[in-house]
Amino acid sequence: MKDRIIKLIVTAVLVSLILPVKAQKVSAASSDMKIYAIDLGDETYGDATYLVSGGRGLLMDTGDKDPNRTVINWLKSNYQTSFDMYLSHYHDDHDYYMAEIINTFRVGTLYLPVNGYMKYGDSDYMDFHRNLMNQTINAARARGTKIVWLKKGSKFTIGNTSAEVLWGCTYNNGVYNTNYINNNSLVTRFTGGGVSFLTGGDLEAPTENKIISAGVNIKADIFKMNHHGGNTSNTQAFIEAIDPYYAWYNFHENSRTDTWASGWCSDPVTRMSLIANTLGTRYNGNIVFSASNGFVSASAQRRTKTIYEKLTYSNGSSAVKSMGFNSLIPPILRKDMFRSAESFARCTKNGTVIKYTWKNTSSGWTYRGSDGSIVKNEFIDDNGNTYYLNANGIMLTGWQKINRRWYCFASSGKMYIGWQKLGGKNYYFDPRNGVMKTGWFKADGSWHYADKTGAVQKGWKYIGGKWYYLDSNMVMKTGLLKLGSKTYLLKENGAMGVNEWVRADGKWYYANSKGLMTVGWVKYRNKWYYLKANGVMVTGIQKLSSTKTYLFDASGAMLSNAWYRSGGKWYYANSKGMMTVGWAKHNNKWYYMNKDGVMVTGIQKLSSTKTYLFDASGAMLSNAWYRSGGKWYYANSKGLMTVGWAKHNNKWYYMNKDGVMVTGVQKLSSTKIYAFDASGAMLRNAWARKDGKWYYVDDKGLAVRGWRTIKGKRYYFDSNCVWKES
Ligand SMILES: [Zn+2]
Repeated sequence: MKDRIIKLIVTAVLVSLILPVKAQKVSAASSDMKIYAIDLGDETYGDATYLVSGGRGLLMDTGDKDPNRTVINWLKSNYQTSFDMYLSHYHDDHDYYMAEIINTFRVGTLYLPVNGYMKYGDSDYMDFHRNLMNQTINAARARGTKIVWLKKGSKFTIGNTSAEVLWGCTYNNGVYNTNYINNNSLVTRFTGGGVSFLTGGDLEAPTENKIISAGVNIKADIFKMNHHGGNTSNTQAFIEAIDPYYAWYNFHENSRTDTWASGWCSDPVTRMSLIANTLGTRYNGNIVFSASNGFVSASAQRRTKTIYEKLTYSNGSSAVKSMGFNSLIPPILRKDMFRSAESFARCTKNGTVIKYTWKNTSSGWTYRGSDGSIVKNEFIDDNGNTYYLNANGIMLTGWQKINRRWYCFASSGKMYIGWQKLGGKNYYFDPRNGVMKTGWFKADGSWHYADKTGAVQKGWKYIGGKWYYLDSNMVMKTGLLKLGSKTYLLKENGAMGVNEWVRADGKWYYANSKGLMTVGWVKYRNKWYYLKANGVMVTGIQKLSSTKTYLFDASGAMLSNAWYRSGGKWYYANSKGMMTVGWAKHNNKWYYMNKDGVMVTGIQKLSSTKTYLFDASGAMLSNAWYRSGGKWYYANSKGLMTVGWAKHNNKWYYMNKDGVMVTGVQKLSSTKIYAFDASGAMLRNAWARKDGKWYYVDDKGLAVRGWRTIKGKRYYFDSNCVWKES
């Protein structure tokens, strides 16, 4: 179902190729998107497309060297002086005029494919293309044009049109790759006016296949065929995945001698024509696609073209030959419907207008032109309804298979569109073209499923290995589905979840093997999860009974022997996932969580007699110092805050009744005076000074009294251990 994409074209009216028009002035209303396929003529080669949205233009590729300077003249004649530019890939038939255009016009932003440049050795061919690339980049830098490098996932906007690069060069930055340049073409989808447009430069089949394998959604309403419609691209799978309403290719066979005769684009264009209204600049000249409010119409400079071609073969011989598929090309293609307020009319190549009217015959209704011709093998529009005239020109009724697709016509001949109940079954006919829908389709904002016969389904359906549920209105359901006493879980794509997580309304649920919503504990990939009575997966701190509080991480997995942080606080889950209160050992360190489960730090009195020290990480200190408020504390081997003497690194220290380490001369009992240096280490055999008085401590650290001989000199210390000079 990954090819499903919202179709905004919901109403019945859609304007297709209207009567011949002159090349229109470039303009687009604010919410619209217009795409101009520029006809480069027979004397050059390449691609050039101009997109306009919200008053801003984007020139996509410039064509090759051209005696008529078609693209530059096109810009001038349409008064386009300031715009942005985009390059699909670094080939001369796409970037020949980039530098000159930057130097001539005001190019605001230049979008270039990153790393898309090929390097497989030096050659004149490579030098030529490298020079073009460098000229473009240098011109942009000199003129102050902003360069934006595009790769897969890049997004940008042109006026009210948004663009997303769906595929690009996959090589790393700085590494020029060895892929053929064509395969590094940017694949970009532009969405504006409610309509999408896909362009893939000169992409070749190998990269098309990669895109399909990768499951990239490339659905679009308008598609510029890859590589000028060539048969080394445009695989059936690729064009079916796009499933456009309009396609075109920019190619003039005359410009490359006999490439058409050798089948360059005849096969892809024929296959494309069975899927979409397909146009070519060769036949149709300049083509304009106008998108607005989800509608798209195409108008072309030329509608008719001789179906005979003078071909020149590579051996120099020439021949006049029928193209062989003149029913497809050009320009009135299979699905053309002349929907307009006026009655059906068409213009011949010499410019006369033929008007048509209904005529009943013994074989049935025909649609006859003022020149006596009758319409055959064609859909026609009359007064807002569509009819089909068969090979004999007879109006069809009932079910009809036309060009591999099913349609249904009322007995009046009116083609059904939209929802129809026929023979007790529901059908849906594409409002744009009347094609009976099969498989998944979206209508009125909901997804539906029709079987091979087109019958739209209800109830449980097993499709592509997954279960889906379509309600009584045939709408595919998602999220929680209550049927009787059972609640099923349907994923966002509608598939019933089986032994897997299902997200609905921003919450996670778990579907069991029967697709049912699970409540309580679930083990998934070796982790435990808990789902509340309403099926919602929990995270964070959860009190699941009066005595049990569990910890779950943000993914919902129950934590085990692990920390959990919330609101700047740390919690610890034990081996059973429960929030710890009290002591926990983690990585050989002890931690303590208070009655609320919050990990403590610093000085903590945990009982009337026990005060512990924890560092900032919460780890209990052991035989280690702790500093707080400019004071030092010492944790003993059991983590307890020391009061009194402690030995550390062979030095003695003393902590007062508050646990604070002392320094200087200290009277620690009625008779004992000690001295400590600035680091708190107890002094021995040393002088110490306090309040201008001198003390001397012996080899046990005790201050002495009475007469003493120190280093050969006699000193006297009074009863308070103070040295008396006299
Ligand atoms: Zn090309």
